[in-house]
Amino acid sequence: MNPFLNPIIVAKTLKSFLIDPSRTKRLKPEQLKQYQDKAFKKIVKYAYTVPMYHDIYKKAGVHPNDIRGIKDIVKLPFITKNDLRNNFPDKILPLNYNKKNGFVISTGGTSGKSVFLYTDITTMIQSTVPSSRETRFFNLNTRKSRFAHIGNFSPYRIDLVFEEKFYSNIKRFISINNILNLDVNQPMTDIVKKLDDFKPDVIMSYPTIHQNLAFLKRKGYGKNIQPKLLTVGGSMIDDYVRRYVEDAFGCRLLNIYPSVEAGTNIAFECSEGTWHIHPDYFYIEAIDEHSNLVPYGKRGQIVITRLYGQGTPIVRYTGMEDWIRFLPVKKCNCGLTTPVIESFEGRMGANIVLSNGKIFPSGAFCFIEPVLNKFNTFKVKQYQIVQKEIDKIDIFLVIDEDLRNVGTSVKEIAEEIKHVYQQKVGPDVIITVKEVDEIKNPKDASKPAPIVISQVKTKNGYDIGNSAL
Ligand SMILES: [Zn+2]
Repeated sequence: MNPFLNPIIVAKTLKSFLIDPSRTKRLKPEQLKQYQDKAFKKIVKYAYTVPMYHDIYKKAGVHPNDIRGIKDIVKLPFITKNDLRNNFPDKILPLNYNKKNGFVISTGGTSGKSVFLYTDITTMIQSTVPSSRETRFFNLNTRKSRFAHIGNFSPYRIDLVFEEKFYSNIKRFISINNILNLDVNQPMTDIVKKLDDFKPDVIMSYPTIHQNLAFLKRKGYGKNIQPKLLTVGGSMIDDYVRRYVEDAFGCRLLNIYPSVEAGTNIAFECSEGTWHIHPDYFYIEAIDEHSNLVPYGKRGQIVITRLYGQGTPIVRYTGMEDWIRFLPVKKCNCGLTTPVIESFEGRMGANIVLSNGKIFPSGAFCFIEPVLNKFNTFKVKQYQIVQKEIDKIDIFLVIDEDLRNVGTSVKEIAEEIKHVYQQKVGPDVIITVKEVDEIKNPKDASKPAPIVISQVKTKNGYDIGNSAL
């Protein structure tokens, strides 16, 4: 049966579309706190009906009655990726849960095995709130604006499940002709053609895809692709990529921060460059490698608690493995006052660890931008930094042939990049800057190659929180 024939679901959908998006603006800080406390208590109660949480909480001697609000979150143990993996499928849902109403979704699994969890229609409806809030924030019309999403639509990926179970059902009731989902694993020229026909207002994709699109746009392709906003989700972008893309399209390229476990965007970047967390949807913490909470503004591993939804609850979950620094509240010039992620420094598994003891999170290892900025050039079409061996770093540059002989020479740019990296990493590391024709996607990966990658296996547990970088 189509779940949208159920009046309760229809009512929830309407509430999610009409009322919830304005909550962060409407509620005063004190009211928002009350909202969080209430939502949190409800989620903990729900989690307690899920065998995995029940067992872990029981072992830790904590009961939902001990939780009066967010301040008591510290009483609850953390939940890891392995907890979810080991308890899938039966122990990550409430005992009485009818699995027919749930859908399995999975994480990408780039850093090992995927994590599988359950979502359902109500959760999916609620998960549309953060993005419609963002859309309104950018003065785009949620119903009329045209959205193109170039994503990963392999089986169990949240994008596909969302399309199959949610959009396909809602289509009959609400016009969603303004959404175009494109699989990232098709030729760039096909993507451009489809975008050109669709004329999107917003394009969401990976940094590399935006960069490739921007390159083609510069070459005169996709005349009708004139977006008002570009967004990047789940990857870091550096300032060069941002400028390169913004310059080509004449609009902003901003971050959103979604994850499969979160089910929606945890945060979004406003035009002031502030990453606003959706505080009615998530409670964020950050911990060091010994699982101690780090002070506000210090680098730590993100821990998320989902304050909405059903299916598999996510409470004090450490499995996202991103480095962040965050502040509990910030009044931003854009008009929003929310908790913010001050800096997002990428995946923990992608750290660059050198034998001289220096450690760089992948998000803090892009030093190419200042060089290209200094020479005021867009001739580098794409680049990638690869740690091949512990003390060997290759930097690959793809040059735009049309701009090769304009301004500073490629040789000079390459030498300057090498020089800058050498200063950062120290003299004992071999830096090689090479020109290549293209940057290939990693084998078996469904996502484009990240900007910074390490092929060196390092053990976990090194002290990055206190690294002076
Ligand atoms: Zn802001």
